[in-house]
Amino acid sequence: MVDTLIIGAGTAGCVLAARLSEDPGHTVRVVEAGSHWAGTDDFPPELADSADLPLGDRASWLWRYSVALTPDRPGTIVRGRGIGGSGSVNGSYFIRAAARDFTAWSRETGSRSWDFESALPYFRALENDHDYGDHPGHGRAGPVPVRRTARPTPLVQEFGAACRDLGFGEVADWNALPGGPESGVGPVPCTVGPPDASGRRHRIGPAHSYLLPALSRPNLTVRGETVVTRLCFRGSRVTGVDCLTAGEPETIRAERVVLCAGAIESAALLLRSGIGPVAQSAALDIPVIAEAPVGRWFTDHPEIGIDYRHPAPEGRSVPLEYVLEFDDIEIRPYTVAFTPGAYRMGVTLMRPTSAGGIRLTTADPLSAPRIEHGYLETGSDRDRLRDAVELTGQILEAMNAEPVGGTGPISDRWLLDRLGTSQHLAGTCRMGRADDPRAVVDARFRVHGVEGLSVVDLSVVPVPLSRGPQATVVLLAERAATELR
Ligand SMILES: Cc1cc2nc3c(=O)[nH]c(=O)nc-3n(C[C@H](O)[C@H](O)[C@H](O)COP(=O)(O)OP(=O)(O)OC[C@H]3O[C@@H](n4cnc5c(N)ncnc54)[C@H](O)[C@@H]3O)c2cc1C
Repeated sequence: MVDTLIIGAGTAGCVLAARLSEDPGHTVRVVEAGSHWAGTDDFPPELADSADLPLGDRASWLWRYSVALTPDRPGTIVRGRGIGGSGSVNGSYFIRAAARDFTAWSRETGSRSWDFESALPYFRALENDHDYGDHPGHGRAGPVPVRRTARPTPLVQEFGAACRDLGFGEVADWNALPGGPESGVGPVPCTVGPPDASGRRHRIGPAHSYLLPALSRPNLTVRGETVVTRLCFRGSRVTGVDCLTAGEPETIRAERVVLCAGAIESAALLLRSGIGPVAQSAALDIPVIAEAPVGRWFTDHPEIGIDYRHPAPEGRSVPLEYVLEFDDIEIRPYTVAFTPGAYRMGVTLMRPTSAGGIRLTTADPLSAPRIEHGYLETGSDRDRLRDAVELTGQILEAMNAEPVGGTGPISDRWLLDRLGTSQHLAGTCRMGRADDPRAVVDARFRVHGVEGLSVVDLSVVPVPLSRGPQATVVLLAERAATELR
């Protein structure tokens, strides 16, 4: 029987498996629903170039979900499926959450254990920042390579100039210590390699940084194409999991199970196993193990996509070379085309007040849960996005860009017609005190009310993050490794 069984070899699972197996006396097994690519050359070639978002309709390395962004605005979201999880298919953007996010997070745990000062040593240890590694608050020796674009594409240069014309300052390093400018425009730190002879930069996800280098350890085993369907319990103690490999059922026993299946599937697994709202379990004839508010409130970053035409030539680069940030808005001049012949500006609300929910509609382990984002439910979310869209109109004007379909007036309908998501769904199994009716795990990732079970992935983040989540997921998995050793 292994010491730790990790469900999901995504971003958090790769970090945790590599760190826990550093101790040769600790046996770790990882089961992953998607492929187990055991070496860099085994990865599908489509995942290699950081300039591509490999999200095609037929991609076998994705989970795909139908969602309701609002009651009348359906959408589709994806997640990575295979070693590295979403970190193997994402945009490589790697910005630390803001200090205020950690303050809010810490408050949820009733202690100071999650404030920025506590996070900083982990941020320093996990990164190899090729631009600012020697600066205070940074690291040079960690597994995660971080690089910024030195010469942005012509389109992004125009974007930067337009933002500066409108009075925004330059932010050279979004991962700098708190105290510097929090608003402004600047280059995005990315998890990519150096440019090769043809200028291509390889996407370097958590599989490359963490899991692959650890695979030769005898105390670590990884199995792909294995879908965990349910957790097994003796009383309130978890004893292992039921899973399916090529349709064949099996039970795997373990001393401890850690869910790293991502914010959607970790929540769904808990719900299917009887850890969730009692009424939901009862309605689906799932025996109750523990009442818990799993899936009740999640946050994600709503994003308004404004397509525009611009004469700048298309370049090959990471999808986001620069961002503009102010208040809780991030404006993203994507370099990849989402619509043929047009560029897209993403206008994103980073700390929405509206929240979403996930619930099961069937106990069938292979059916997706219902996902309702609850976007734009509050007037304050709509107002802040509307103001940001107006400002984006000024940026586009300063860039001499031509918005497809014009810009205004910006009614609720106008917003809804362009509403999308940043694919950052978080907080389905929130961290918090045992007496907090919204909390599912404690500050050390252990599920309240049961033994031998932890959740370590984006599910646990209890507050909206002002930045994309990837750096925060790596950080929290690094922290979990020290808690679970
Ligand atoms: C297209 C896209 C682009 C993104 N771009 C960025 C970006 O540029 N910057 C940024 O900060 N964030 C970005 N994100 C978000 C970020 O990548 C994710 O939030 C983060 O990687 C989540 O990590 P995780 O460990 O929580 O889950 P994941 O990395 O999604 O890992 C979950 C893993 O669990 C496996 N799994 C799930 N269920 C089961 C099961 N039942 N049995 C076995 N295995 C299972 C999955 O196959 C997967 O490998 C993006 C997300 C997407 C989808």
